[in-house]
Amino acid sequence: MPAAMTITEKIMAAHCGRAEVRPGENVWVDVDVLMTHDVCGPGTIGIFKERFGDTARVWDPDRVVIVPDHYIFTADEKCHRNIQILRDFVREQGLKYYYDPEFIQGEGMPSPYRDPTQTSYKGVCHKALPEEGHIRPGEILLGTDSHTCTSGAFGQFATGVGNTDAAFTLGTGKTWLKVPATMKFVFHGEIPPYLTAKDLILAVIGEISVSGATYKTLYFTGDGIRSLTLEDRMTLTNMAIEAGGKNGVCDVDEKTLNYVQARSNRVQWEGYEEDAGAGYDAVHEWDLGALEPLVACPHSPDNRKTANECGEVTLDRAYVGSCTGGKITDMIFVAALLEGREVKIPTFVVPGSTEVHADMIRLDVRGEPVASGGRSIYQVLVDAGCQLAASSCAACLGGPHDTFGRLNEPIRCISTTNRNFPGRMGHKEAGVYLASPLTVAASALTGRVPDPRQFVSEPIVTGAAGLR
Ligand code: SF4
Repeated sequence: MPAAMTITEKIMAAHCGRAEVRPGENVWVDVDVLMTHDVCGPGTIGIFKERFGDTARVWDPDRVVIVPDHYIFTADEKCHRNIQILRDFVREQGLKYYYDPEFIQGEGMPSPYRDPTQTSYKGVCHKALPEEGHIRPGEILLGTDSHTCTSGAFGQFATGVGNTDAAFTLGTGKTWLKVPATMKFVFHGEIPPYLTAKDLILAVIGEISVSGATYKTLYFTGDGIRSLTLEDRMTLTNMAIEAGGKNGVCDVDEKTLNYVQARSNRVQWEGYEEDAGAGYDAVHEWDLGALEPLVACPHSPDNRKTANECGEVTLDRAYVGSCTGGKITDMIFVAALLEGREVKIPTFVVPGSTEVHADMIRLDVRGEPVASGGRSIYQVLVDAGCQLAASSCAACLGGPHDTFGRLNEPIRCISTTNRNFPGRMGHKEAGVYLASPLTVAASALTGRVPDPRQFVSEPIVTGAAGLR
């Protein structure tokens, strides 16, 4: 009889062929999916060829997923060259899952996305992976991006790796991992209408600091987590890395199964649940009714203050987007606050994926299909004075100087993204305030950092979109 284990330990045990593993052990595991993108893909491919040979083949062309997403809408030639390297590799290896940004031949710029459903391009990798059926409970996902941990929301072990480790996995399908100890974060009660998952994860990081979960699993559980949409759970696991975590994970429930069964490109997987008596490195508990809207002030995600404490901060810009805060539910939160109002400061909005973009056109602010004569989320945001762009990482990571929304001057910006270290969104002296989509929308309306409770009293209905 194996000892009581956590979800992460069970997944690792199953992938190294053992009945049980313990935190701190090093094990060789089989990898289910390896993801890379336009920033780290070329480097990974280079190491793969150097170490395995020019004619080497990847271990399984159906388990390698390449999602260009970072530096897409730019005139920068080096960024275009990176995407060409990905294309050549995909062709050479016969990879099945590649989502090309479709540059217009000879012009070097991506085609405009008048209809975001008419392209194979998908936008930000961590949003595209579950949408395109690459995520299943109980599997191991590696990605050459630190926010690969996002997919732990679906009850899998998902973590970021460097180019060298990714190149090894490309050639062998395996990797060597130390089993992380698990920290348990329990949220009790229903989430109030003025909070989103972003407030919860800012509470966690503010409590334990950016190094508080170094090489640990952050396990999010409790009735408060079960009441969240999968998209909101993704916001939690996405920022596990901001606490230094190896991975973040949530329980598998009916919402998870419904999502995965509708999307997965494989039919077999096995989800796991925590054993009673599993060992935890630490247990933290919150009552959701007692939590206040939070902000992470410059220049660290653990520089936590309540929105109320930031009331005097004046802002130059608001930004909504990224794998953390560019999902359709985030867009509904923002649009619900901005409907019938006008933003006071420049407000940039970037959908997290082309599916989100399409849904912003298809759905109204209640998450329902736009009725005849009604206004879409997209239209509500345009009417409020927001500037919108096609899906990509855009200014979340700064990017080339011509990146949409990039902070090219030392200004103050409030953002739904996940990092606010100096220079993260562009200029090294810019100040980035991380907050929930509700707090960011309220800030866009006032040019300050108000408590969103001034604008939200009733639950925001996300309709069918809230099932995601
Ligand atoms: S949106 Fe931001 S955090 Fe997410 S993958 Fe892109 S650059 Fe990284």
